[in-house]
Formats: sequence, C-alpha cells, structure tokens
Amino acid sequence: MFEKQNLIPSAEEFVAECPLPARLAAVKAERDALARDVIAGRSNKLLVVVGPCSAHESAPVLEYVRRLGELNERVKEKLVLVPRIYTNKPRTKGVGYKGMFSQPDPEHGEDIVKGIRTIRKLLLDAIAESGLSAADEMLYPENYAYVQDLLTYVAVGARSSENQMHRLVSSGIELPVGVKNPMSGSIPVLINSIFAAQSPQVFKYQNYQVRTSGNPYAHAVLRGRVDNYGNDIPNYHYETVMQVLDGYKNAEGGLSHPAVIIDANHSNSGKRFKQQIRIVEEVLQNRIYDADFKRIVKGFMIESFLVEGCQKHDEVFGKSITDPCLGWEDTERLILDIAEKA
Ligand code: PEP
Ligand code: MN
Repeated sequence: MFEKQNLIPSAEEFVAECPLPARLAAVKAERDALARDVIAGRSNKLLVVVGPCSAHESAPVLEYVRRLGELNERVKEKLVLVPRIYTNKPRTKGVGYKGMFSQPDPEHGEDIVKGIRTIRKLLLDAIAESGLSAADEMLYPENYAYVQDLLTYVAVGARSSENQMHRLVSSGIELPVGVKNPMSGSIPVLINSIFAAQSPQVFKYQNYQVRTSGNPYAHAVLRGRVDNYGNDIPNYHYETVMQVLDGYKNAEGGLSHPAVIIDANHSNSGKRFKQQIRIVEEVLQNRIYDADFKRIVKGFMIESFLVEGCQKHDEVFGKSITDPCLGWEDTERLILDIAEKA
C-alpha cells in the first residue's frame, strides 16, 4: 500500500503564512556572513554548533537558545555560536521518532502540515529570542525549501553523505554545509561528497530543472565511524584530520576552503555524552602543537540541552529524547573554555 494521506502546501505558501520579518532577516544575514567567514578562513573565530540532538518541543528549545544568546555576548570576539535546532531525525533502523517536522508532538502520530508550521515558528522565534539563527540537518533535501530562509548552517548526516540528491542540493546552498563522514568513516567518500557539493550542478528539484553555482562553504564534519562489528571508532584525532587535509589537497580539480568541524558526540564519544568535554579539550590542545591542524579545524559540534542525558519519553523539561546531551552548566563552562583557548 502507498496511500496519499494529505496534500502538503508548497514552501512558498508556508513562507507567505509565516514570513521572516526584515529585522530578523538582517540578523540572519549577519550570522550567515560570520559563519561563512570562519569556514573560508577570513576569520580566526571558531564555529560552535551546539544544542540538542533533536528539538522535540519548542518551549525548552527557546529557553536554551535564550541562554545561548546571552552566552554569545560573552564569547562573540572568539566564537560564532550556532544553535542546533534539528527538526528531522534519521533513525538507524528507520523507525521511531523522526523529528518535529513529522511529529510536532512527539507523543502523537505524524502531522506534517502542523510540523512545518511549528518548525518555521520555532526557528523564527529562536532568532527573535537569541539573536542567533540555527543549524538543522537536511535529512530530506526536498524539505529544505520549507526552512531555507531561516538557517545559518546545514548538516548532511552520516547516513546521507553518499546520497546524490543531498550532494546536488548542497551545491546550491549559500551557507556552510557540514558534510559528515559516512558511517563507514571513509575519507575518500567524504571528500567526494564535498567535491560534488562544491561543484556547479544541473538537476531536477521539485518541479523544476535547476542550476547551481557550487557551494565553496561545503566542508567536512568528523563524527567518528562504526566498524563492521558495530563498534564506535573515534576519528577526531590528529591522524584522521591530517588525512582529511591530504584529501582536500589531492582532490583533482581542487577544492575550496579546507575545513573540518569536530562532532564531539555520536561515534566520537560513543554517545558517552560527558566525553564531549574531553574530546573538545584534546582537539584544542592539538591546535597548539600543529599549525596545519589549527588552520583546518574550524570548530565543533556539541550535543547539549538544558538537562544532561536523555529520556525515552518527554517527561523532563529540556532533556533530549534522542541522543544523550551535556547539561547547560557543563555546556556553558565548555564554551567559555573554548573561547579562552580559541
Ligand atoms: C546528529 O547530528 O544528531 C546525527 C544524527 O548525526 P549523524 O548523522 O552523524 O549520526
Ligand atoms: Mn545526535
């Protein structure tokens, strides 16, 4: 069976219904420029993409970004903070909670029209509340159109980085697109993805033949890998980062702006969320010893929410219902420390 359940209005209709006011569009444009400058090496600041694994409810996310906005004021000379507001979740086995886009209420079934309204309002309110525009994973490239006016950073997940459509759509995004290493950890596959995203492309998107100019801000995110036996193997160390640098240097035809973001959670921490602190500290330490490492490592991705850990059901306010996260106090301490050492 393949049943058409509901007709979903076009992205244009959702945007017209909930447009980004000019004042907030100006804030977003400023944040975009700051993030692009880090990836391109025009700024020596570090980019820190930080927030919950999934944004399952608006109120705690808004409280989180409000705190992050205040923290940003203290670190903005050194860091560019981008809140993770992840509204689409890939699932390892393809089942379970798939994010606010599909399920605006995690305890209820799918309602995508309501989901799109909810995430547009959340992303917009987050900019108003914090002065920061968000990052999200582009899990379904066709859905990017619903939020493309609201984001400052786009991630291509580990399960998607080999996918043609993700690569093609990334090539038309005028923002930093962080391409995760695939689950296998293959660096050549990662470099090929970045190459495709940095190249001009012509393809079918929605009802159009479209043309893109290539995205020079597409870059690598190292998230650790999973071996053939299901073990998490970290890849934030010096050796892997240097392999990525070699991949950038050796890419036939050339690549722009060699850049690596270290994702401290996922297979780097083995989802032992507290280890994110140690991993970030190790990476900061390596920057001291090697100029090439320092130049290519442009920042971090950290999973963090108001309350540390995770829960199966939405019972505790501000606690993740997907991957376990650092709590707010640890996050604040860690971000202040990154700023000091940046
Ligand atoms: C995430 O960032 O929450 C995520 C699902 O990442 P990955 O694609 O690396 O598993
Ligand atoms: Mn996660």
